[in-house]
Amino acid sequence: MMSLARPKQWVWILAVIFFWRCGSSGQKSCVRCDATGENSCEAGVSNETDKMMTHKKGSFPVSKTDEEWLELLGKDVYEITRRGGTERAFSGKYWDCKKEGVYLCACCDQALFHSEAKYASGTGWPSYYEPIAQNRVIERKDTSHGMVRTEVLCARCGAHLGHVFPDGPEPTGRRFCINSASLELRERRDKEKTETTRP
Ligand SMILES: [Zn+2]
Repeated sequence: MMSLARPKQWVWILAVIFFWRCGSSGQKSCVRCDATGENSCEAGVSNETDKMMTHKKGSFPVSKTDEEWLELLGKDVYEITRRGGTERAFSGKYWDCKKEGVYLCACCDQALFHSEAKYASGTGWPSYYEPIAQNRVIERKDTSHGMVRTEVLCARCGAHLGHVFPDGPEPTGRRFCINSASLELRERRDKEKTETTRP
């Protein structure tokens, strides 16, 4: 008759299985697929961009060293986009901006938000009810500063953009609360307006 493992061994095996399943709790993880920083994530994968949007921590399609980002962005933008900082409310260049155009990622120029989705939230940070496309951003749980929030990152370069909250206006009911420093507005020109008019 086959001998069963001793009780101590079973406890050990169960513990290994438990930690294998939950080993990354407490880390930042993707809210869409629950992948953690150490595991690949399918967040935002779409027909358009496919593998481009699959990410691992530190392995985004656009990747640079800290030194390179600092040199490219300057200290203020670097601190917010690459170190997860937050600009003071009402201090950024876009919180009250009403110009038409597309807001690009300040780090990699990916188009992130359209001015049509921007609204006056009264918070002092530029706020949008949705990104241009869901696969342009990555959302992940952020438990820093004693709060549970959902952080928003650029899906192309991993830049910290801000956070998203469930208190936005219709049609999504979401509020993407973004640092001005993480954005660069590409203004819509009059020529483009006429070109998009239907015949
Ligand atoms: Zn980016």
